[in-house]
Amino acid sequence: MKYKIKIIIDKILSFFLPRTCFCCGADLKTKTILCTNCFKKIEPVKGMLCQRCGVMLKSGGKHCRNCRGSKASKYKCSFIRSALQFNEPTRALVHAFKYEKYLNIAPYFAEVMYKTFRKYPEYREAAFLVPVPIHKSRQRKSGFNQVEVLAQHLGKICSIPVLNALVRTKNTESQTKLSREQRKENILGAFALAKGVEGEIKGQAIILIDDVCTTSSTLEECACVLKSAGAREVLALTALRE
Ligand SMILES: [Zn+2]
Ligand SMILES: [Zn+2]
Repeated sequence: MKYKIKIIIDKILSFFLPRTCFCCGADLKTKTILCTNCFKKIEPVKGMLCQRCGVMLKSGGKHCRNCRGSKASKYKCSFIRSALQFNEPTRALVHAFKYEKYLNIAPYFAEVMYKTFRKYPEYREAAFLVPVPIHKSRQRKSGFNQVEVLAQHLGKICSIPVLNALVRTKNTESQTKLSREQRKENILGAFALAKGVEGEIKGQAIILIDDVCTTSSTLEECACVLKSAGAREVLALTALRE
């Protein structure tokens, strides 16, 4: 299976020729973005997962600390799963995808996300894939929302239409150095419903799409907006899980 993915990533990246591995900086002989060593370190999310947020549980149980007991049912985003574990090589892939515009990583992420999608019947009733939006000032700078590109690829494979149901109203600072509580605060009120989509999402199950899930505060904030606009259920699927 890994071999197949390797072929795919070789193919899609064949016209980019980075001279060094995006992760470790080793010289590359093949037309890949990662060296063989780094590529081997890519791991799917596996083992026991929190039933709601999908984080890997080291010591078992049904839920992680943040979703335990009555907490699980309070979240608007009811189900989150991710394809790959966040580590040095996958972080390098997301970085190349997001900031270096290696858009051809999207089909690879979509492929591994589709494997996760197929594993869970929870996703089957979804009417739309909704990408987590970026602020329009950032979109102007980069020309695209990379998550939307990812959603389009995934939507094609799983035959679910993509709906840009959300807009980002707040240009939030990067979440990477923030604590769980700070992230919540930072992202509060950052999203709004896009114009004219209310009728479409009313009563529907929706899958939010994002590249990385860390504390799930972004997904939760998006889910709040969709739920108050009448969505029946909001689930999420991301490429990476930190
Ligand atoms: Zn490497
Ligand atoms: Zn959890």
